Amino acid sequence: MYDIVIIGSGPAGATLARMLDNKYKILIVDKRNLNENKEYKREKCCGGLIAPDAQKMLAHLGLGIPKQVLTGPQMFSVKSIDFDNKMEKHYQRHYINIDREKFDRWLVSLIPETVNTDYGCQFISYKEKDDYIEVKLRNKEEYVIKTKILVGADGAISKVRKQTFKNSKFPESYISIQKWYKTNVDMPYYTSIFDKEITDFYSWIIQKDEYMLIGSAIPSKYNANEKYDILLNKLKKCGYDIGEEYKKTGTLIMRTRKLNQINVVKGKVALIGEAAGLISSSSAEGISYALKSGAMLAHSINKNNKNWSSNYRKNVKKIKFNILLKNIKALIMYNKFLRCLIMKSRILSMKIKSE
Ligand SMILES: Cc1cc2nc3c(=O)[nH]c(=O)nc-3n(C[C@H](O)[C@H](O)[C@H](O)COP(=O)(O)OP(=O)(O)OC[C@H]3O[C@@H](n4cnc5c(N)ncnc54)[C@H](O)[C@@H]3O)c2cc1C
Repeated sequence: MYDIVIIGSGPAGATLARMLDNKYKILIVDKRNLNENKEYKREKCCGGLIAPDAQKMLAHLGLGIPKQVLTGPQMFSVKSIDFDNKMEKHYQRHYINIDREKFDRWLVSLIPETVNTDYGCQFISYKEKDDYIEVKLRNKEEYVIKTKILVGADGAISKVRKQTFKNSKFPESYISIQKWYKTNVDMPYYTSIFDKEITDFYSWIIQKDEYMLIGSAIPSKYNANEKYDILLNKLKKCGYDIGEEYKKTGTLIMRTRKLNQINVVKGKVALIGEAAGLISSSSAEGISYALKSGAMLAHSINKNNKNWSSNYRKNVKKIKFNILLKNIKALIMYNKFLRCLIMKSRILSMKIKSE
């Protein structure tokens, strides 16, 4: 019998596994082969930008990002292209540009050896019994284990969440497509693109060494490939030299716009990170919440194993408040008229010499 079984070894799960007391018998599983160095088959679709909130959280956890996780260039501004209002502006921002797969693997490398791991292993389902939970997993073959606490850290399309909160209304889902193109151009800023014809969320361009990543988060009700092609054509018309396609990644984003779309704990099951719905509806930033909720749950379990669930639920209120502020920001940012006013006012915008 395990004390804690964690499904998913992304930033949330890996942080929890690293911070739990070693008196507990813990198992962490992930469908990715995180213990092998061969080609990443199940790479996470992500912009790979560490925003100030995530930087603060890493500092708080006593961590600094090793240089092999970084990619170039490091960027100090965001260029906002507003196709709806036909405007462009630069704003100062402080991001750290990383290789997302290497970042995840670095966090995994920090998990102590006392934690049992099963990588290349998929969570199938669970059954709640009186004193424990029976968890069905598959690594080539199916097997069943028992645990006192089950944690869903399995990201946006969380199976644990779906099974635990069957009657909840989940947030609206967006299909994110991100393609990597070869480039010779230096782009020392992150670009965000607003265009109602494509999405009521946003699209982005990020350089990672010799690649230009062009991505978009498109409401699932639309044909995402068609919308993505519209975006590419618009960028080409604006003079973007888009090279040969190198690879394509995709996933869903569940865009949490109401606090009741966040689910954190029920009985012996807890959710952390994106599985709980902890993501910004203004920027889709989620690494800070993953690190924070993973650390909060570890703290709650370590502090008082009996009341861990009420303790965790109470602590998550701080994250919920932060998400509420992001939701208010999103209401302003994604309103064409208000965005036009802000961009015209030049508040906080900056001039770039080369332009
Ligand atoms: C296109 C896009 C761009 C983004 N860009 C940024 C960004 O630049 N900066 C930022 O801060 N955030 C960004 N985010 C959000 C960020 O990626 C997530 O919020 C963050 O990864 C959440 O971490 P997590 O550990 O909760 O989940 P994840 O990182 O999704 O990890 C979940 C883990 O669970 C595993 N898993 C899933 N299902 C199963 C299963 N059934 N069995 C076993 N294992 C399973 C997965 O393999 C994965 O390793 C972006 C998201 C998207 C979609």
